[in-house]
Amino acid sequence: MSSSGDIRIPSRLPLLLTHEGVLLPGSTMRVSVDTARNMQLVRSRLLKGTSLKSTIIGVVPNSRDPEHETEELPALHSIGTAGLAVQVVGSNWPKPHYTLLITGLCRFRVEQLLRERPFPVAVVQQLDKLEQYAGLDSGDADVSSELGELSQRFYEVALQLVGMLDISVPVVAKLRRLLDSLPREALPDVLTSMIHVSNKEKLEILDAVSLAERFKKVLPLLTRQMEGLKLLQRTRKPRLDDDRRIIPIRKGGGLAPGQLSMEDDGEEEDSDDTSLLERRVRGSNMPEAALRVCLKELKRLKKMPQSMPEYALTRNYLELMVELPWSKSTTDCLDIRAARVLLDSDHYAMEKLKRRVLEYLAVRQLRNSLKGPILCFVGPPGVGKTSVGRSIARTLGREFHRIALGGVCDQSDIRGHRRTYVGSMPGRIINGLKAVGVNNPVFLLDEVDKLTKSLQGDPAAALLEVLDPEQNHSFTDHYLNVPFDLSQVLFIATANTTATIPPALLDRMEVLQVPGYTQEEKVEIAHRHLIPHQLEQHGLTPQQVQIPQDTTLDIISRYTREAGVRTLERKIGAICRAVAVKVAEGHKATKTPSSSSSSEVTTAQEGGNKGEEPIGGSVDLSLPPEMPIVIDCQALKDILGPPVFEMEVSERLTLPGVAIGLAWTPLGGEIMFVEASRMEGDGQLTLTGQLGDIMKESAHLAISWLRTNAKAYQLTNMAGGPDPLEGTDVHLHFPAGAVTKDGPSAGVTIVTCLASLFSGRLVRSDVAMTGEITLRGLVLPVREALVPLSRHPPLLWQVGFTCTLTSKPVLLCQVGGIKDKVLAAHRAGLRCVILPKRNEKDLEEIPAHVRADLQFVATSCLAEVLDAAFDGGFRGPAPSLAPPPVLSKL
Ligand code: ADP
Repeated sequence: MSSSGDIRIPSRLPLLLTHEGVLLPGSTMRVSVDTARNMQLVRSRLLKGTSLKSTIIGVVPNSRDPEHETEELPALHSIGTAGLAVQVVGSNWPKPHYTLLITGLCRFRVEQLLRERPFPVAVVQQLDKLEQYAGLDSGDADVSSELGELSQRFYEVALQLVGMLDISVPVVAKLRRLLDSLPREALPDVLTSMIHVSNKEKLEILDAVSLAERFKKVLPLLTRQMEGLKLLQRTRKPRLDDDRRIIPIRKGGGLAPGQLSMEDDGEEEDSDDTSLLERRVRGSNMPEAALRVCLKELKRLKKMPQSMPEYALTRNYLELMVELPWSKSTTDCLDIRAARVLLDSDHYAMEKLKRRVLEYLAVRQLRNSLKGPILCFVGPPGVGKTSVGRSIARTLGREFHRIALGGVCDQSDIRGHRRTYVGSMPGRIINGLKAVGVNNPVFLLDEVDKLTKSLQGDPAAALLEVLDPEQNHSFTDHYLNVPFDLSQVLFIATANTTATIPPALLDRMEVLQVPGYTQEEKVEIAHRHLIPHQLEQHGLTPQQVQIPQDTTLDIISRYTREAGVRTLERKIGAICRAVAVKVAEGHKATKTPSSSSSSEVTTAQEGGNKGEEPIGGSVDLSLPPEMPIVIDCQALKDILGPPVFEMEVSERLTLPGVAIGLAWTPLGGEIMFVEASRMEGDGQLTLTGQLGDIMKESAHLAISWLRTNAKAYQLTNMAGGPDPLEGTDVHLHFPAGAVTKDGPSAGVTIVTCLASLFSGRLVRSDVAMTGEITLRGLVLPVREALVPLSRHPPLLWQVGFTCTLTSKPVLLCQVGGIKDKVLAAHRAGLRCVILPKRNEKDLEEIPAHVRADLQFVATSCLAEVLDAAFDGGFRGPAPSLAPPPVLSKL
């Protein structure tokens, strides 16, 4: 088959499987690449960096639907077309894909598949000659007379066909010239790609390897096209445009390799498309400014050949503009009474928050406008912030959309990329509007405290514009480049802490604290909301599974340690999954009851035998469905494994030098053990546990105070001497060493811990404490202390805080987290909380039953703290407050 002048295609070709259209030699086709295999091929064979590497690839038609692309390679069509990729356009909108412009070179046969992954590569045999196109019309001796005749006839019919068209149209003139300049044997392929033929017919032409067969197959198609033309001419008054319209040249109709492209031949089809787009643009009710921009873009689009990369970009832009809800909105149906009922039915507890939300809505109803401060729900994860946002949307009858801002560090995430960038996209606000399809949704800006700055700009600054009612009626996304009115959107923000919300942003928002739940509240939430919801999610009914309150309490105290209820919900989900398996198996096993084996449910039923909820005695998977599976503590252990959090308080307080403090974290309150030990040395103090400067200072303060008062309290060093530090090194450790901790309110805990170490007495194991100390032994309330701001909010021994930044990044703390700390102590099963006297009033926030369970000791000096922390009080008289004690050097 080869002659010395032939151009040979490589014998191994990567294969591109096309799902629509058939590429024929001599034509140019646009292929949309979005399947994993094809994308891989484009990336690794055609694109190097971002530039196009010209490579010959094999294009093989594939009948399988790209939607159902499987791991397994579909059976390959045996004949394909080697093609030269002349252009690759990439876009990320609406999903990542490439558009390839490929010019067909010649046929090949797939001989052997070399590999399938990541894209198929095959050994191929070239079927058409690439150089010999000149042979036919020059009357080559090799060419049989039959083929000569055929080609002549074909040429004449093609001439006739072109003759029926208006030669003044440039495309037709070009085609006319081509007929003469192209080698005759190229004509069947080229013409087939230009006339109206189905894919199936094209496939037949592709499969016609012999030239004579190809001429024979295409001839009737040409004649059919001519008949069609004639019919049209007869039925319509011949107009110039009509003639043009009947050249149904599909997108990217092209020519022999290396020759001109016929891209503009698709113009007419496009113009239909673009006029449709134009109608949609005009009908989309967009404001004047936007309409003007769209019409301008449309005008450009019409002039652009489809192969231009900008074509797809402009089109995508226009499609987005059309889809945006410029003037589409829902009607608010706010009724405060109904809102109250809905909020109450969706959420248990959180009374303060619900009251504030209702006030907010009531004011909006009276003023008949939703303008006002942006609500920002601040609290630990899983306390229902998002869920309240969703309820607000429901009470208003508005669409709801959540925009997750966690980790966003590029302002174009909010404001979009300029369209000059490859793969540019609108920002999340505009995307959200497109998704909900109305211009007055409720947008929940989730985790505004997790925005970070980067080289790509400050997303918080972009959010400012979005949230500012003075500016947001003309919010300009970089991608749209025309203003969009956001004033009807109701924004609600959520955060875990206000510490990391940029001050300017915080200023625009009204912060509503959502504290964690008590155990009892969690049990109620679980039984009213979480369990019914999870049962429904898993297709179970309350008749099939019962989770008694004791079990819920067990899950809460032994399998979760959180302020919210998210892990609790997950654990309940895990139980439902396990039960679902058993229920499903039970249905199947009905016929073979003896097939049961020991399992979670088995033990659940044994639990029933113990008398809790009798279910039917014997271990039997074939339970009829109406018998509920009761999750008792044994079943719980089988399903969730051994308890994750066993209360280790009493175990850890068996040695002197350990005390329990209370910490506040953005995730809620925590109890924290402070440990101290001493050894022979020269008075060094070692601190470990990732402490911040303020905590280190607290430790020094505590040591100094204890040394000053060592005599009064009969504190001694290891040798029994009067200075606790003489000949002694002290090591103070704050466990959970990987978590950064800072804040002043660990002071009292450190003093208590060291007092225990130096006195050799045990601290009461049911006491937790919080409070800041002074050198003179006063206990300050947990408030108004300075806490350094770090990028990741440290575990703070302080309470909630808000404030503006001073020149150094420092935050002023405020009271607000006493509730979280007390709840943590309660969760941990402690009985007594020592707190500063001036924080006593904050106890009002704590639910009555928690208060009833705990004893509170309000203290104003360290002597009182120590008395409360040790059984029977701490020895010695209270140190006098004045004059201030003289400090000995540490
Ligand atoms: P957040 O946004 O605070 O992290 P979510 O709103 O996602 O938490 O809440 C997590 C889950 O807990 C949701 O399924 C929610 O319905 C449920 N939940 C939280 N608080 C309550 C409550 N007070 N009453 C009912 N369900 C609640």
